[in-house]
Amino acid sequence: MSKYIFVTGGVVSSVGKGITVASMGTILKSRQITVSVQKLDPYLNVDPGTMSPYQHGEVFVTQDGAETDLDLGNYERFIDVNLTADSNVTSGQIYSAVIAKERRGDFLGGTIQVVPHVTTEIKQRFEKLAQKSQAEVIIIEVGGTVGDIEGQPFLEAIRQMRNDVGRDNVLYVHVTLLPYLNSTQELKTKPTQHSVNELRRIGIQPDIIICRSDYPIPEEAKNKISLFCDVDREAVIPLPTVSTIYEVPLILEEEGLGQLIVDKLSLKVHQPDLSQWQELVSRLKAPHEPVNIALVGKYVELKDAYFSVREALRHAGLYHNRDINLLWVHSEDLEGNGSDALLDSAQGIIVPGGFGIRGINGMVKAATYARNNEIPYLGLCLGMHVMVIEFARYILGSTEPNSTEFDASTPYPVIDLLPEQKEIENKGGTMRLGNYPCQLVNGSRAANAYGQSLVYERHRHRLEFNNQFRSLLEKAGMVYSGLSPDGKLVELCELANHPWMVSCQFHPEFGSRPTRPHPLFCDFIGVAKDILREGAQPPLPFSP
Ligand code: GLN
Repeated sequence: MSKYIFVTGGVVSSVGKGITVASMGTILKSRQITVSVQKLDPYLNVDPGTMSPYQHGEVFVTQDGAETDLDLGNYERFIDVNLTADSNVTSGQIYSAVIAKERRGDFLGGTIQVVPHVTTEIKQRFEKLAQKSQAEVIIIEVGGTVGDIEGQPFLEAIRQMRNDVGRDNVLYVHVTLLPYLNSTQELKTKPTQHSVNELRRIGIQPDIIICRSDYPIPEEAKNKISLFCDVDREAVIPLPTVSTIYEVPLILEEEGLGQLIVDKLSLKVHQPDLSQWQELVSRLKAPHEPVNIALVGKYVELKDAYFSVREALRHAGLYHNRDINLLWVHSEDLEGNGSDALLDSAQGIIVPGGFGIRGINGMVKAATYARNNEIPYLGLCLGMHVMVIEFARYILGSTEPNSTEFDASTPYPVIDLLPEQKEIENKGGTMRLGNYPCQLVNGSRAANAYGQSLVYERHRHRLEFNNQFRSLLEKAGMVYSGLSPDGKLVELCELANHPWMVSCQFHPEFGSRPTRPHPLFCDFIGVAKDILREGAQPPLPFSP
């Protein structure tokens, strides 16, 4: 039977609860314990797929095609597992399921209530993941902070679990923030005390409190939290802000969290081996020469909207011993005259995924710039649409080629809906989602980068390359370097007469891991790092 660790958050959101949960997974896995993870999101949306990236950051897509919270990306990267739809549960899913059962008559005339019907539905999701994953430990993160109205049923469900599976099989971890007061120059514990009180009011006594803080936490503060919140002294775990998120597992391990979990849950384990992780962090912290990559998108004000892209770039940079210096370029800022200067120092340009017409012409300009100046370009999903539109406009000498997402009546719909997509009216969950095979074409840049002939990559889009334009663009130098095995869908395209202009219809960023960077990102950075921009000097040969 699986054991459960429930993680709640206190005081404020955005203190890095997701990274903490992911890191807990890392330190358990380092003891050869099998782990699976689940995120409970209290909002009423069925999934984050229909939410604006400004509200929610990136939508992370699992291999089985679920549109999920970006924390799942961190879980996958830190624990190196491929999760499924079972790992993200929202209030919207729970209520829809309960109401569907009520309509079917499953409750035999009973009054449907939050307790027990909603809480039972929630607990069934825990069990389903436990059964399917067969993991020894299931870590469950409750989104939001304790005290949120929407979060109550989830907290009640995790409270009940202590009786359901026995108190030796559950552990409650609370992640809080210790704010720093400048006037008195001290870290305050009172908000933590209040949020633990709130948890206790619901009937949950935390076993472990992880304290986030921007400053080192003095012994005195730890003692106070132990006393007032009634947790063991060694179960107050400090987690100060660090320069790289990948350091968090090492800090938690050093503070004894791994051993504490093992003891409290009586797990049978091996000695922890975090050597690979230690090596990763020391390489990340070592100074490297930077490579300037411009990320051209319309959500750049909120960096979390491109979380996996940023991480995938960082992984590939590390592979080449380079730091990625990301230049965040708002695509609308590229639309004005003379705005090309924003790309002057870019050694590579990346246009990531997105929806809607806003900023599209700026992205097309970025693609023109990359093509004319022979700057490496990586297009991800929408970035591929942009590359195809740009190339078609160039060879036809017209501004009319477009995607029907942006101009439904264009005479040159180079990107279009598949006929079967045209019938669909609902927005949620109706795209091409999750893993699809892609056959690589021998001799292409993409095939060389992968070093394989068949790959599976994650998708999230409605529109596709329009095959009516295949031969026209091919004659002008576009190479279709990856196709669906039946040859019907263009999955990858590149320009023959360009050092590296490659785009994919899928999202390779979701599959990148810190120790296993994605081949397309690796190849892109490998070429970009040697591009010399005006005023830049080639690096001097370095001998230690
Ligand atoms: N908006 C485009 C589509 O729906 C691209 C989506 C994306 O970039 N994820 O096909």
